[in-house]
Amino acid sequence: MTDLSEPIAKPEHEGAPIAPPLWLLAELTYRCPLHCVFCYNPVNYADHTRELDTDQWLDVLRQARALGAAQLGFSGGEPLLRDDLETLVAEARKLGFYTNLITSGIGLTEKRIGALQEAGLDHIQLSFQDSSQELNDFLSSTKTFDYKKRVATLIKAHGFPMVLNCVLHRYNLPHIGRIIDMALAMGAEYLELANTQYYGWAHANRAQLMPTKAQLDEAEAVVERYRNEIGDKCKIFFVVPDYYERRPKRCMNGWGSVFLGIAPDGAALPCHTARSLPGLTFPNVTEMPLKDIWYESDAFNRFRGFGWMKEPCRSCDEKAIDMGGCRCQAYLLTQDPANADPVCDKSPHHERVIEVVRAASARQAPQEQPILFRNDANSRRIAAEASGNGSEQEGENQP
Ligand code: SF4
Ligand code: SF4
Repeated sequence: MTDLSEPIAKPEHEGAPIAPPLWLLAELTYRCPLHCVFCYNPVNYADHTRELDTDQWLDVLRQARALGAAQLGFSGGEPLLRDDLETLVAEARKLGFYTNLITSGIGLTEKRIGALQEAGLDHIQLSFQDSSQELNDFLSSTKTFDYKKRVATLIKAHGFPMVLNCVLHRYNLPHIGRIIDMALAMGAEYLELANTQYYGWAHANRAQLMPTKAQLDEAEAVVERYRNEIGDKCKIFFVVPDYYERRPKRCMNGWGSVFLGIAPDGAALPCHTARSLPGLTFPNVTEMPLKDIWYESDAFNRFRGFGWMKEPCRSCDEKAIDMGGCRCQAYLLTQDPANADPVCDKSPHHERVIEVVRAASARQAPQEQPILFRNDANSRRIAAEASGNGSEQEGENQP
C-alpha cells in the first residue's frame, strides 16, 4: 500500500496554481437522533466526541470566506442539535455566504425555523428515508416519519426553497414512484434521489443495500416518465450508484479542488469520508490557519492534481475527466488509496466491483445478514475491533 505518512511535494510543478475552496461544509456535530443504516458519518464517530465551540466555528466561517468559499452547508449528524446554529447562520449571512441547512428535520420547530429565517438562512434540504412510514422508520430506527412530514409543511409555510433528499437502495428503489409523488404533494422544488454511495455505515451494510441492475433500470425509467410528465414543477436529480458504471465519478471534483469540509472536532477534510484513509493526518483548524491547511498541508496536497497517480491512471488520456475517481473507494476496495478507483474498467481491480454487483443480483432478499444500525454501541464495537479489542464490547443489530 502507498505510505501516506511520507510527506509529499506541493503539486505546483504541474503549472496550474491551486484554486481557492468554493464550498465549505460545516459538520457541526456527529450527534444525531436517527440511526440510519446508510449514514455517511465515520463508523467510529463515537470516538470523536469533541466539538468546536461557537467562537471557533465563527472563526472558521470568517477564514473560509476570506479564502474565497461562497457556498456553506450546515450539516452533521443533525446540525439542529447545536443551540448556536442561528448565531452561525447570522454570521454566515453577514459574511456573504449562500447557506444551506442539511437536516433530518428533527428539532425544526416553528420557533427555530422562524429564528433561522430571521438569521438569513437561504435554503433547507430535508431528508426522508422512504415514502412509507414503515420503511422510513425502520431504516432510521426511529418514529420520525410524521414529524418529517410536519417539518416539510413548515418549510413551505415559511417560503423556503425546499430540496427533499432520499437515499436510494435495495429496500426503497421499488417505491420510487411513490417517493416522487410524496415530494410533489409536499411542494418540493427539487428532489434529490441519490443512490447510496458505499462509505461509512453504508459500506458496512453494502450486502443488504446494494440494488440489482433490474431495480435500477426500472427506477430510472420511472424517473424519466415523471420528468416528462411534470416538466419544471419539481427538478428531479437521480444519482446512479457508481458500482454500476464503467468510469468512476469525479469525486469532490478532484481532491483539494473546491470542497473543504470541517469535522465537528475541527479536522479539515478534502472529502466527507477521508478520515477512513489510514496514515493521513488531517490538520485541525484549532492548530493551523485555514489558508495554510488548504494550500500547504500534506493532507490537502496528497492527491491534488496528477502527480500522485499510479498506472493505469498516470498515462490515461481520461485522467483530467475523472481525476482517477475516489480515493476512499480505492482504499476500501483495493486497500491502496493511490490506486485507480476500481469502478473503472481499466483498473486491474475492477473485478472486485463486478463481484459485488454480481452477488447483489444473485441475492433474492436483502437481509441475509443482520443490518447494522448507526448507533453508539455499534460505533464503539467497530472502533474496538479495528484496534484489536473486538471481543470486549457487544454491538447491536437493533438499536
Ligand atoms: S444519515 Fe441519518 S443518522 Fe446519519 S447524520 Fe443523517 S439523519 Fe443522522
Ligand atoms: S484509468 Fe484512471 S484516469 Fe483513466 S479512466 Fe480509469 S480511473 Fe480515470
